Amino acid sequence: MTKRSGLFAVTSAHGKIGELLSVAVTQAFQDLLTNKHLYQSVEVSVAAIDEYIKERADAEYKAAEYAGSDRQKESRLREVTEQVKQKKNALEAIWAVTPAMGAFGVPQTTVEANIVYFELPTIYTLCPTCDGRWPFNPFPLHLEDRTSSGEAVVHHMDDAVEVFVCAYQCQACKTEPLVFLIRRRGVKLTLAGRSRIESVPAPAVLPKHVHGFYSDALIAHNAGKTLPGLFMLRVLIEQFWADLERRHVLIVRDERGRLHADQLADAYNDILPREFKDRFPSLGKIYEDISDCLHDARADIKLFEKSQQEIIEHFDARRVMKLDAEDDQRAAAKAPKAKAR
Ligand SMILES: [Zn+2]
Repeated sequence: MTKRSGLFAVTSAHGKIGELLSVAVTQAFQDLLTNKHLYQSVEVSVAAIDEYIKERADAEYKAAEYAGSDRQKESRLREVTEQVKQKKNALEAIWAVTPAMGAFGVPQTTVEANIVYFELPTIYTLCPTCDGRWPFNPFPLHLEDRTSSGEAVVHHMDDAVEVFVCAYQCQACKTEPLVFLIRRRGVKLTLAGRSRIESVPAPAVLPKHVHGFYSDALIAHNAGKTLPGLFMLRVLIEQFWADLERRHVLIVRDERGRLHADQLADAYNDILPREFKDRFPSLGKIYEDISDCLHDARADIKLFEKSQQEIIEHFDARRVMKLDAEDDQRAAAKAPKAKAR
């Protein structure tokens, strides 16, 4: 491995293919950190590299046809194999974040020709401090050496395995940076950790007191834990009904004062207008389907997505038909009267 400390204008061993890969890695980081959740992955696209190799190969084959000697022809064809080999080398190389420049334009860490350097992109993500979705810029880590500053090579097995640590700062509030841990195996990048838990905002149509259950359901589902996600969706429905019961909109306690979900479902169904029940998804049905799934401990991704969508549809319809106002009237009418003095 060629080491040239202090010189950034080092010739990359990977040539044009290395440049194309560098751009693709930056794009994959942006997609991963902007659009994906914990434990989700993206693949670095090699489409541009393949396109380039194909174009080069077409040109070389054409040139080989008109080549004067067999030796010239051979050298043309060898060039094609060389490109394919270069692609393999670049994909198996260590990838590293381009080092920051220090004084006199000298990079702060050793630069190596065999490494594929890439720039960290600007990303968009939800800021846990100012609660909005803003651009985040890479934030320098100020660590001593390359191994600890951006990436650690775990080991080389069939594929290159690396772990990157990247800090990002919200451009709106410029407070504590978010730090992400990204694992690379071959061309696959996985979001393997983050310094602060991701928050998933709940749609405004949902009652405020169930927002937390909705967010937790989505965080679990997005991280590949759909079964606990389904459980949280069921808790959301249950707690929505329980709140109506607390406000005396639904009256369903048994003689021992206990609440039963099936009775809550029936009582809720009873107060819904007929045209609503005919047209919109039933919370009772969603609750029942999720319960069946939980009893079988089935992590049903399709059911999660369908239930999530139908819950929102249900509450959106409630909003349009002004059912909250009706419930408020019921609550006022049924609330235990204050004793007259
Ligand atoms: Zn912020």
